Amino acid sequence: MVRTIIKTLLKLILYPFRIIIKLLISFFKRLKFSIAFKISTTYVLLYIVIIMIAALTTTVGYFLLEIRKFENTVITNDVEYIVKNFPEVRNIKVRDSDYNSVEIYDENLNTYFSTGRHGKYVSSILLVIEKILFDNEYIYSGAFSYRNSDYYLNISYPVGEILKDAWRISFVVLISGALGLLFIIPIVVSTSYKLIGPIKNMTEITKTITVNNINTRLDIKDAQDELKELSQTFNEMMDRIEGGYKIQQQFVSDASHELRTPIAVIKGYVNMLDRWGKNDKAVLEESIEAIKNETDNMQDLIEKLLFIARSDRSTLNFTKEDFRIMSILNEIEKETKMIDKEHKLYFDFYHDAIIYGDKMQIKQAIRIIIDNAMKFTPPGGHIMVSGFIEDDYYVIKVKDTGIGIKKEDLDKIFDRLYRAEESRSKAIGGHGLGLSIAKIILLGHKGKIRVRSKFGKGSEFSLLFPYLQSQF
Ligand code: ADP
Repeated sequence: MVRTIIKTLLKLILYPFRIIIKLLISFFKRLKFSIAFKISTTYVLLYIVIIMIAALTTTVGYFLLEIRKFENTVITNDVEYIVKNFPEVRNIKVRDSDYNSVEIYDENLNTYFSTGRHGKYVSSILLVIEKILFDNEYIYSGAFSYRNSDYYLNISYPVGEILKDAWRISFVVLISGALGLLFIIPIVVSTSYKLIGPIKNMTEITKTITVNNINTRLDIKDAQDELKELSQTFNEMMDRIEGGYKIQQQFVSDASHELRTPIAVIKGYVNMLDRWGKNDKAVLEESIEAIKNETDNMQDLIEKLLFIARSDRSTLNFTKEDFRIMSILNEIEKETKMIDKEHKLYFDFYHDAIIYGDKMQIKQAIRIIIDNAMKFTPPGGHIMVSGFIEDDYYVIKVKDTGIGIKKEDLDKIFDRLYRAEESRSKAIGGHGLGLSIAKIILLGHKGKIRVRSKFGKGSEFSLLFPYLQSQF
């Protein structure tokens, strides 16, 4: 009951303070102080705290030292005198000493003798401190024996002078601390601003970066430690962004270039038709055939570009289902045999497996690899397609005895619109997008592509798809 009343009373008393603290916190939160200001304030506050601690310790230290000196001289003499003259101490007041009062208590702590000031025996340090602070009085406490009985002694001394000196010392320390603050503040402020300078510089430079000056980098020289690391990381990030941006730009320019050729061809034929084709049947037929080819070519290119763009924008959707890989492998075998009469074709599907994936896309990826084998293998060459299980993957391997790929081209053939020198000079069709698309499809199925090739001898492409269930 009493407790709850006290609690509510305390709450009521503290309520205004809590409101003030809350208001102050929200006020400071709203204020957007700069980091330099915050660092400076923290250091200045730290300095003030240190000065206050220094003032306190020197004051207390001085006081304790003086009291110890006093105890060793005056107090020891007084105690000796009292003990020596005990119990005849009634004339004690006559003695020339500095004390305020003397109290002697018997074994039961009842007053035995008193010059008339204290009521109770004082021995606790807290009481002693209280007396020092509020009454400017130091109370010595001690005990002695007389005829087998214990007696307790309290002597109180005025310590106003010592205290005054102690406060003076504290005042001097505080004043010198305050003077020091005048020197400290400009140093702390300038150091903090110097420390933060690189960040400001970074912000200014970062603000100016656009696609037009994407090669701008932060100056690492005057940054230090973590800021240097931050600038370095930022610069590395910009390198990556710039790299990606350049690839994208190159891709756009290459794609436009690829589209320019069929359009130029179509335009040429249209002009020819315009001039002579209306009456010349041979020109008419040739032009229609060429325009048809070129539009097919363009359509193929645009569809491939759209596929890649969808993948870049992450809007490419795979319609995945469980299906037997053999079902599409058989279809591919039939189709290839139908369209390719120029090469010796071998199909060996050793195992079957259930795969979770987009049937159409997986078929497209395999087609891309087989089409390339057909394109880059001279007539009469061999193309071997096999299917089997290897560890956690179903592998579709396409091996040809074609023109092969140079070592330096091997890591570039998956780049968009990249075609090796040989395939371009031999005027073999293609836009250099097939393998990029195959790679996108494989990655979308958590699969892998492996290539091995010997220039002039042939190539071997393996598509690896993770499978759900094997069927031997
Ligand atoms: P393309 O439409 O030109 O075939 P791809 O992306 O499919 O585009 O292939 C990129 C390049 O990789 C080809 O231009 C060719 O230089 C090389 N390449 C791909 N497959 C083979 C292969 N089986 N034999 C030799 N070179 C190949």
